[in-house]
Amino acid sequence: MNATNKVLSIIAFYLSEFDMDAVNALGFKNRTEAISTISAKVGSGNNYLKLRCDEFDALPDSSSSRRGWRNRPPIKEVVEMASYLRQFSFAELTGIVQSLIENAEGSSPLEPEDHNTVSLAQMDEEEIERIANLSDETARLVYMSRAGNQRVYNRSIVTQLKKLYRGRCQICGVNPVAEFDADICEAHHIKYFSDSQNNDASNIIILCPNHHRLIHKKTLVFDSERMAFSADGKDRLFVKIDYHLKRT
Ligand SMILES: [Zn+2]
Ligand SMILES: [Zn+2]
Repeated sequence: MNATNKVLSIIAFYLSEFDMDAVNALGFKNRTEAISTISAKVGSGNNYLKLRCDEFDALPDSSSSRRGWRNRPPIKEVVEMASYLRQFSFAELTGIVQSLIENAEGSSPLEPEDHNTVSLAQMDEEEIERIANLSDETARLVYMSRAGNQRVYNRSIVTQLKKLYRGRCQICGVNPVAEFDADICEAHHIKYFSDSQNNDASNIIILCPNHHRLIHKKTLVFDSERMAFSADGKDRLFVKIDYHLKRT
């Protein structure tokens, strides 16, 4: 499963579980409109999202009033994803889903009335990420290219991805400070933002501060095929949990 389909699976669960509440929260009139518009925004045909919705509808404990097709038992991946995503409230999942859709649309040109922006062009990667990880979402990420074009990046995707992992690091698979009921994990850009200007969900991984520091300190490189950070040609750190990058 590629990153787009992984994200579409989260959206499909949301549409299946909360039905018209979800459709309305996203500003659509009906499920068909939601499926076609969202699919177009994330750059996919309608079929994947529609079929995934049907699969979630068909789960035996589904709260959806719809009848999905029940000719075969649901696949393990769908069952696992549903049981994980059921931990979230409607409001929490609405925030995550809205952000994933908005993020798929990419960055937008800077409007003349935009204020409260931070220019990233002169900063190093860790400084950029410090800003990307701020909990105050009013400061926006603005990047000025050499040609002088400025673009604004959606920062809420970082906040929402952290929510999706509930304080857990994608490498350790645990929340290192769970007993304090705190979330200290950070977003890391797989391809450095300073090089790629890519703030898409598919370029962001959520890490505990230790793994994050280590990856920068040893300049570990991410291998998306093997889902591992490597050094000297050896896989050192494998991704343990993943709900938005690729099949685990
Ligand atoms: Zn970790
Ligand atoms: Zn980083």
